[in-house]
Amino acid sequence: MARVAVVTGGTRGIGSAIARALKAAGHTVAANYAGNDEAAARFKSETGIAVYKWDVGDAGACADGLARVAADLGPVDVLVNNAGITRDGMFHRMNLEQWQAVIRTNLDSMFTMTRPVIEGMRERGFGRIINISSINGQKGQMGQSNYSAAKAGVIGFTKALAQENAAKGVTVNCICPGYIDTDMVAAVPEDVLKKIIAGIPVGRLGRAEEIAAAVVYLASDAAAFATGSVLTINGGQYIAN
Ligand code: NDP
Repeated sequence: MARVAVVTGGTRGIGSAIARALKAAGHTVAANYAGNDEAAARFKSETGIAVYKWDVGDAGACADGLARVAADLGPVDVLVNNAGITRDGMFHRMNLEQWQAVIRTNLDSMFTMTRPVIEGMRERGFGRIINISSINGQKGQMGQSNYSAAKAGVIGFTKALAQENAAKGVTVNCICPGYIDTDMVAAVPEDVLKKIIAGIPVGRLGRAEEIAAAVVYLASDAAAFATGSVLTINGGQYIAN
């Protein structure tokens, strides 16, 4: 069945592939982004998908933005919490700004984005919340104590929220991608990336579309029995659970 779906960070990288795939599956999609107007305009003209600019770390902006989406497109049935940032550094040199920026965008956003939509989903008896965590939230990553903490928090949040909402037709799942070929990974120094790829049994980076396909499944009516799951998609780099 066609639903209204919001994808945070939906104009670039993994989020852009998710938004396109949800549209291709028949859903009405709103793609949120933070500040890169040029990328958002390009995405909008390529896909015809509506774009909405707000900061997912700002509770008031999320409530206003989600109200705008609901007024334009209808009540939100599917929320994909995908927006994320990195501010890498060894912890003994990390400053509070690096820590707080990553926690705010990657973890506070679970609250600020999900809280405004969850009551409506419960009342209507249908909802799909899909959170994008990371391999580094599962295993920890040197130089990413802030990011690893936030992404591990996303997993805990997913499991708790799944239990709270299972009886109301609202499923909550998360995906832990491994290294996916996006701007975020392009920022990793080449020598580091070479070593990372050498440690991926499939022998390459993942493609954003390979994450998007899983989101389409988790958003579907067919996935009603899948809740609280942590889906690992990483080319075999880290075999969790
Ligand atoms: P990109 O850096 O390619 O894209 C990030 C997107 O998030 C952009 O659309 C950006 O908007 C948006 N965004 C960033 N901050 C905010 C904010 N405060 N409010 C709203 N939107 C925001 O990231 P990826 O596609 O690589 O990553 C997507 C998700 O997947 C992230 O959560 C990331 O942590 C996770 N992930 C990525 C992996 C990878 O290898 N790439 C591996 C594992 C997890 P704008 O264009 O305006 O800047």
